[in-house]
Amino acid sequence: MNLSFTREEEAFREEVRDFLARNLTEDLSAYARRMTSVYATKPIALKWQQILVKQGWAAPSWPVEYGGTSWTPAQRYIFDVEMARAGAPPLSPMGIGMCGPALIGHGSKAQKDHYLPRILSGEDFWCQGYSEPHAGSDLAALTMSAIDQGDHFLCNGSKIWTTHAHEANKMFCLVRTDASGKPQQGITFLLIEMNQPGVRVDPILMLSGEHIQNAVFFTDVRVPKENVIGRINDGWTVAKYLLEFERGGSSYGPRLLARLRAIRITAAEEGALDAAFAAKLSRAEAEILALEAAELQQMSELARGGTPGLKASMMKIRGTELSQHLTELALELAGVYAAPFQPHHTSPGGPVPGFEGLNTAQAGPDSAVTSTAKYLNDRAGSIYAGSNEIQRGILAKGQLGL
Ligand SMILES: Cc1cc2nc3c(=O)[nH]c(=O)nc-3n(C[C@H](O)[C@H](O)[C@H](O)COP(=O)(O)OP(=O)(O)OC[C@H]3O[C@@H](n4cnc5c(N)ncnc54)[C@H](O)[C@@H]3O)c2cc1C
Repeated sequence: MNLSFTREEEAFREEVRDFLARNLTEDLSAYARRMTSVYATKPIALKWQQILVKQGWAAPSWPVEYGGTSWTPAQRYIFDVEMARAGAPPLSPMGIGMCGPALIGHGSKAQKDHYLPRILSGEDFWCQGYSEPHAGSDLAALTMSAIDQGDHFLCNGSKIWTTHAHEANKMFCLVRTDASGKPQQGITFLLIEMNQPGVRVDPILMLSGEHIQNAVFFTDVRVPKENVIGRINDGWTVAKYLLEFERGGSSYGPRLLARLRAIRITAAEEGALDAAFAAKLSRAEAEILALEAAELQQMSELARGGTPGLKASMMKIRGTELSQHLTELALELAGVYAAPFQPHHTSPGGPVPGFEGLNTAQAGPDSAVTSTAKYLNDRAGSIYAGSNEIQRGILAKGQLGL
């Protein structure tokens, strides 16, 4: 295992830094500094995506022929580190990070040629329709039906917690095409056009008031058969493939370290870096560095041809736990200024009904205004992408043989 970077990798780091210095505009940085959720709004995410697309860096893990890079795992890690250090906003995860890999891994050439460029251009904005009211952790229990009508399916049912469904024009989803066998059999991976009769999107507001998630209802929605990714009744294979990307596709360490650094600087500026708080920050830093060491180790293994495998579950648990811990430290630092609810002074991940156009003055320092919303939003980190209890179950079974 070699965890140090080569001279070429350090030169690549300089190239990324130079690019960020020239292209990360002040409005994008300012937006990112005040983000309250893990999601940037569609206009911000697409603006930054277009800048990265122009450079050829928007989809590092895609094949070069479709606009990806041929970066090594080390280069991808360095890229993540520098993006986090510079405070760049995140891209929407559903298109480039999830639907793209599903198409690349299981789509036909015609599907790749059609959809991949549209993901990069932003023409298609995707949402993920997996969860249903009675199928979350137990995803194979899903019941949204797709009845074979010859050249198309007729879809009925509902999806829940669907991030960005109100902004997306496309959904990749799992539907039940056969209910006769085991639950994992008879599931099909389907692409659905959102702007058509029979699709209804109702908002679900987060605790912070933001509209990012939705409930989506389908009534007699026609979906052409050419929209199936992979084979009919074999969608579980595509779904499992995709989940590895969702859990193990990005590194937590760089962004966590950048956030910890920001908390420490603010505490010092505000005279709040007493021995007790400094010790809490140091403990958190040690834990993040341990996670980063594990991520670097994994990167080294990937470079030698390994797969994320069980480690993706470990990273997901530690990454989200440490992220939640940082929101607690930020809340402690904010003190009384954590109390006022003032989303109009933050960059929420979606509209906060009732607060549009409000112009009351900001209460408290800049560092405090996002603290409560971030704390509330981050509780979801240990639930989505497979809850942390489920990840522990995977580790217990796969690693400990329990
Ligand atoms: C902010 C947010 C965004 C989301 N975005 C999307 C999206 O875009 N698309 C999408 O399809 N879904 C999305 N989800 C849904 C998410 O994937 C599910 O919430 C998650 O899989 C958990 O399912 P559930 O909510 O039905 O909870 P349940 O599965 O009902 O779980 C309830 C509790 O029981 C625990 N539990 C369940 N089974 C076990 C077990 N076998 N062992 C131990 N503990 C167990 C869980 O850990 C949890 O604590 C999102 C969720 C959130 C919170």
